Amino acid sequence: NGGGQDAKNLRVKLVLLGDSGVGKSCIVLRFVRGQFDPTSKVTVGASFLSQTIALQDSTTVKFEIWDTAGQERYAALAPLYYRGASVAVIVYDITSPESFSKAQYWVKELQKHGSPDIVMALVGNKADLHEKREVAVQDGMDYSEKNGMFFIETSAKTADNINELFEVPLIFAFFSDW
Ligand code: GDP
Ligand code: MG
Repeated sequence: NGGGQDAKNLRVKLVLLGDSGVGKSCIVLRFVRGQFDPTSKVTVGASFLSQTIALQDSTTVKFEIWDTAGQERYAALAPLYYRGASVAVIVYDITSPESFSKAQYWVKELQKHGSPDIVMALVGNKADLHEKREVAVQDGMDYSEKNGMFFIETSAKTADNINELFEVPLIFAFFSDW
């Protein structure tokens, strides 16, 4: 699935999709800059960030991350971002059942119109807000299992599982023979 890339310098195009306000931009900022800014701005259209990480065997991986806006008026632009992506990260907010429904919409959209070998990860973000939880962990797990996706709960605020979110699907996509 690595697209014939040099095994020592991989490039991974990754797209984040999901409802507005679920924390996509905060996840990316946490991963790229190690920061959490509670006053972060709403994404307009989409934004691009890249981050290179080194794996243990001196392979480097450059993530090209497209962070999309969740608003309806940009939905028609989404294929521009997910087309050609090797990893799609679909995010919902564990305090919002509506955002979980919206995540399922994105999964279906990718199953219909995305590349057949795209690796998908379902992410329940804001896991630090456990007292406000309205989507059970089991619901996320069951849905992702049915759809052949990875599943992880994260918190951009506390940094819980943020590195894992980027590394686990990556390893599956490029090193599944390991
Ligand atoms: P986006 O529209 O999906 O890009 O969402 P943002 O990244 O802009 O975040 C929306 C709001 O959720 C902001 O007020 C963030 O501070 C907040 N937020 C994002 N991630 C977390 C998280 O993990 N925990 C908590 N408690 N709040 C978060
Ligand atoms: Mg955003």
